[in-house]
Amino acid sequence: MSVECHIKETTDRTVIGKTVINGERDSNAGAVALDTFIVAVDPSSTADSAPIFRRGIEEHFKLPTKYLHVTHYHGDHTKGIGAFRDTVVVGTSQLHQQMTRGGVPYPPELTFTDKLIIEEGGHRVELHYGGGHTACSSIAYYPEERVIFLGDLLFADEFPWAGDPSCDPDQWIAFLEETLRLDIIHVVPGHGPLCGKEEVRRQLRFLKELRLNTLKALEMDAGAAAIEMPTIYEEVPESRDTRTARHFYDFYSNKKDMIMF
Ligand SMILES: [Zn+2]
Repeated sequence: MSVECHIKETTDRTVIGKTVINGERDSNAGAVALDTFIVAVDPSSTADSAPIFRRGIEEHFKLPTKYLHVTHYHGDHTKGIGAFRDTVVVGTSQLHQQMTRGGVPYPPELTFTDKLIIEEGGHRVELHYGGGHTACSSIAYYPEERVIFLGDLLFADEFPWAGDPSCDPDQWIAFLEETLRLDIIHVVPGHGPLCGKEEVRRQLRFLKELRLNTLKALEMDAGAAAIEMPTIYEEVPESRDTRTARHFYDFYSNKKDMIMF
């Protein structure tokens, strides 16, 4: 197996770390440099890519890593945490619960429910609860250079994975709408290339169309297979569309009494 992790400068103080496994693009990580230390955002995809990612960001910034912010519990965002076990692992309290329950090693020792700010020398990284993609999802925002790391709340140029049992489409849509109101230029997605607000709008359009089509199928009691899938993304990883449709159908079935048709 060949594992690579490419560090690419986003702004003076931020980078994106792109993992490539056997020539195939995998999940992204990122990092922000404050004055004397780095805040890493996700450890990169796997236990093999994480040490490469860590070495890359520390060589790039010539600083040590003090914090690792883990955006959510999915394996491609947690398998590499071991390479950062000497740093302070940060995440939502829901992430802590989820990892502990699942027996995933290195759950966050520093947790937050709504927001956590890491500051040094007048520089500030904000971690915000997001929900949506999973109940434990959070994001990192670096206002000084107008950079946001959305984790899997954004799949750039790729059909999003929206079939996690705890995925809340309404929360996901609300969060991306909120993101569009922020003063940002650079958007680091959990998957796919570095992008901007345009890609956030595209994902929002997809989620809203899918929600509408789900409600239509639900109104007719037609089942998840009847949901018309929006054709916004060319690339659809295997079975991601059917599993996502099933989750949307179940999610809105459970909310049916609250929906006005
Ligand atoms: Zn994910």
